[in-house]
Amino acid sequence: MLERLLNPRTIAVVGASHKPGKVGHEVLRNLINYGFPGKIYPVNPKGGEILGLRVYRSLLEVPDEVDLAVIVVPARIVPSVVEDAGRKGVKALAIITSGFSETGPEGAELERRIVETARRYGMRILGPNIVGIMSTSKRINATFSGLTPYPGSVTIISQSGALLIAMAGRTWIEKVGINDMISIGNMSDITFPDLLQYYYGDESTKVIGLYIEGLKKGREFIEVARRANKPIVALKAGVSRRGALAAASHTGSLAGSAAVYRGAFRQARVVWANDLDDFFDKMLVLSLLRPPENGHVLIITNGGGVGVLSTDEAERQGIELEDPPKDLKEELRKYMPEFGSDKNPVDLTGMATDKEYYGTVSAALSHPWVGALVVLFCETALTSPQKVADAIVRAYDDSGRTKPIVVSFVGGPETMKAADTVKERGIPIYKSPELALRALAGLMEYARILKKGEPEFRPFGDVDRERVRRVLDAARAEGRSFLLEHEAKEVLEAYGVPVARTRVASSPEEAVALARETGLPVVMKIVSPDIVHKSDAGGVFVGVRTEEEVRETFNKIVENAKKYKPDARIVGVTVQELAPQGLEVIVGATRDPQFGPVVAFGLGGVMVEALKDVSFRVAPVTPEDAEEMVREIKARDLLGPFRGQKPRDVGALKEVISRISQLVTDFPEISELDANPVMLYGEGEGLKVVDARIILA
Ligand code: ADP
Ligand code: MG
Repeated sequence: MLERLLNPRTIAVVGASHKPGKVGHEVLRNLINYGFPGKIYPVNPKGGEILGLRVYRSLLEVPDEVDLAVIVVPARIVPSVVEDAGRKGVKALAIITSGFSETGPEGAELERRIVETARRYGMRILGPNIVGIMSTSKRINATFSGLTPYPGSVTIISQSGALLIAMAGRTWIEKVGINDMISIGNMSDITFPDLLQYYYGDESTKVIGLYIEGLKKGREFIEVARRANKPIVALKAGVSRRGALAAASHTGSLAGSAAVYRGAFRQARVVWANDLDDFFDKMLVLSLLRPPENGHVLIITNGGGVGVLSTDEAERQGIELEDPPKDLKEELRKYMPEFGSDKNPVDLTGMATDKEYYGTVSAALSHPWVGALVVLFCETALTSPQKVADAIVRAYDDSGRTKPIVVSFVGGPETMKAADTVKERGIPIYKSPELALRALAGLMEYARILKKGEPEFRPFGDVDRERVRRVLDAARAEGRSFLLEHEAKEVLEAYGVPVARTRVASSPEEAVALARETGLPVVMKIVSPDIVHKSDAGGVFVGVRTEEEVRETFNKIVENAKKYKPDARIVGVTVQELAPQGLEVIVGATRDPQFGPVVAFGLGGVMVEALKDVSFRVAPVTPEDAEEMVREIKARDLLGPFRGQKPRDVGALKEVISRISQLVTDFPEISELDANPVMLYGEGEGLKVVDARIILA
C-alpha cells in the first residue's frame, strides 16, 4: 500500500516556489538535482516555470497520474490541497508543512481533518511536520536539504527531522550505507509499524534503524517488529524523566516509562541502541556482517593493554572468552615470538607486522571453532599501520568474507588514515577496543534474536474466567474499585496461580473451625475495605499455633483495627495457610499509556524498591519472554544456586508471570495488580502468593 509513496513514478511538489532559499524551491531543486528518474510536477497557483519545469496551477491540472504529492504549502492551506489531491487520485502525500498536532489542540484538529479527507479518498499521509524522504537506490531527495546519505542498505526512519538530516551527513563519516531515510513526523496516518511492514518486503533494505521518541500504538509496534525478517536497531530518546517530557512536547505523543520501553523493545526483538554513537555502530555491523554461527569470539592483538581492555568489555557485554583449541593455537604460534600468547586474547606482541596479522587473521577465519573475530592494533614504532590494515583486509577477502570481524586501531593520524581504508572496504573498525566489542555484542544479540522461538502467546486453557468475573462484579456491586486480599487471591487462583489458602471468618468460632480445616499453625489477617496496609494496623499475625490462640488472635485483630481506624468497616479476619519462608519476590501488573497492560517482576524487600530493580514486559508474556524478564534484574544471582542454596524454581515463576499477564489481558478493567510477596521455593517446589492486591479501573 505504501509502494507509491516510497517508490513513486511521478512526484508533484505542491507549493513549489520561485524563490531560491524557500522550502518550496529547495525541495524541487533537490529532487531535480539528485536525479529522480520519474516525472516531477511543480504546483503553484502562480503558474509559470521553475528550474526549467512548467508549473501547474493546481494538482487537478497535472496532465498525468500523480503517485506522490510532496506538500510544502502553509498549514491553513493544506486541507484544500489534500482535498484536491483526493479528487486528482493522488496515491500518497508527504506533508512537510508543520503547525499541526505538535503545536496544540487547534493544530491537532487541523491534522485530524486532513487525515479524514485522505482516508475518504484512500490516500496515505506521511507526516505532517517532516523533512521529507530520501532514497539512494531510487534517487529521491524530496527534502529541503541538499545533504543526501552515503549509499548502502540501511533504511532509517526518524521521528526527528533535523536529526535525520544530520544523520544523513554523518553516514559519510561512519560509512553507514543508506538505502532510504524517512522522516515520520507527527505520524498522523503512517506509523512505524506501517513502514516496518513495507521495508520487510524491500529487498534493497537489509537493516532498519529507528529513531523513536514516542510510539502511538505500542502494541502494534511490538506485534509487527517481532516478526521482522531483518535486523531492527532502535534508538529510543526520552528515556530520562526530563527527556520524556521534552519528547512529549516535541511530538505530541506521550512517552511511556523508560523501563517499560526497554522491556517492550526486547519483546519486540529489536536491537537496542544506547545512544547515537551506538546506533551508528550497530547499524554498521548489522549491515556489513552476518551474525556469528557459534559463540566463540577470538581476539587477536599486538598489545597487552588493548587486549585487557577488550577482555573487560567482553565480560561487560556477556561475551565469554575461551582459549582456542590446540590445533588453532599451534597455527597461531607460528606468527608470534616465544613471549607471545596463544590464549584468548591472542597476543602477537609489539613485534607483529603485516605478515603476522595476515597469518593469524587467516588462520582464525578459516578455523571452524572461531565464530567471530576481533582484531586489535596498537600503533607501534615497528610497523606501518597501513600495511597492517591492508593485511587484515586481504585476509578477510581471501577468507571469502563469511565470518564476522570487527577491528580496532588505536593510534595517531597515520593509524586513523589506515583505519579509514579498512572502513572503506566494508569492515567495521573502531577507535577503541571497547567500541569494537560493543558493536560485536550487537551482532551477537541479533544472533540470539534469530534463535528465539515462535513469538505467539499461547493462552493457558485451564483458567476460570467466570469465577474472576463473579469476584469483580461482586466488588463493583458493593461500590468498591479494589479487591480485598482474599478476593484478589481468588482471582489469581482462578488463573492457576498458586496462593496460600485463604478463608474469611466472621467470628472467633468460625476462625477456629477454619484453622482446624487449614491445619495449624495458621496466619490471620484483618479484612477491611478501609485498611490497605494490614500490618500497619496490627492486622497480621503469622504463625498462630493453637485453637485457643486463634480465638484470642481473632479478637486482638479486630481490637487493633478499631484502635487504628475507629470507623473502619470490618468484614472479618482471614485464616490462611502458613506458607513456608521462600525468596520473596513481586509479580505485578499495571497499565502503560502506550503499551496497555504490562507486567513487572522484581525481588521483594526494601533494597530492591530503592534500587528500582524491576523488569517489565507488555502483556501477554510468553514463557520465553518471562525467562528473559526474570534473568535481566540486577539481583538475578539470588535466583541461581546461591551460597549453598539450591536454585529457585524459575520455571514456576515464569509460568506465573505468564498466567498473570493473561489475566490482565483478559480483564482490561484490572488497572493494577500486585502479588507481593510471592514465596519462591527451590527448583521443583514451586511458589506461593501470600498477599495480593487488585485495583479496578
Ligand atoms: P500487608 O497488608 O501489611 O502487606 P501482608 O499480607 O503482606 O500484609 O503480610 C505481611 C507479611 O507477612 C508478608 O510480607 C509475609 O512476609 C508474611 N505473610 C503474610 N501472609 C503469609 C502467609 N500466608 N504465609 C506466610 N507468611 C505470610
Ligand atoms: Mg503485603
